[in-house]
Amino acid sequence: MSETEPSGEEPKREPIPEILHSFYEDRAFVSCTRCGESLADFDEGYRISKNFKRGEVIIEYALCLPCLDAMMDEASEESKRRLNEFQTERYREGVSGFGECALCVRTIGEARNDEYGFVGVCHGKDMVDSAMICIECMEDMAEIMSAETRQTWDRFREENFPGVPGDFKPMPTKPQPVNS
Ligand SMILES: [Zn+2]
Ligand SMILES: [Zn+2]
Repeated sequence: MSETEPSGEEPKREPIPEILHSFYEDRAFVSCTRCGESLADFDEGYRISKNFKRGEVIIEYALCLPCLDAMMDEASEESKRRLNEFQTERYREGVSGFGECALCVRTIGEARNDEYGFVGVCHGKDMVDSAMICIECMEDMAEIMSAETRQTWDRFREENFPGVPGDFKPMPTKPQPVNS
């Protein structure tokens, strides 16, 4: 099934697939959900996150890296450390795309209630990496975050998505190199 990957570390660029376009705006994301700046202007790129349940879009957003960092910075040291450990431990090397969970052995068809999140790492109009995280892994991740860290994400949700129910999970990310 899987194509043979070219060897080497060259990231694969592809146009952002329609599944990661904004469902509400009916086009590709153009601005950061948090700061409103144009996504194309960020050289470091941006992340698109979309959560689905039984085929419906529950929540969707695009965050520029400075905003993503700012959200992560608000997390307590304890949460950051635990989240990092969790991701390092669970992250499946070489798994990308939307078919399999990046953090456990479930395929997209095995996600409970058809609930999962898609993440796209994007630059300009291209996607350079992608991941699927099943609901159970999102729950595991939310559980290890402190109440205070969850509040940061709750506030973000309330400010940007007033109609969305409170079970929104923080955005799954891939392990980041630890800044020291
Ligand atoms: Zn931003
Ligand atoms: Zn999973």
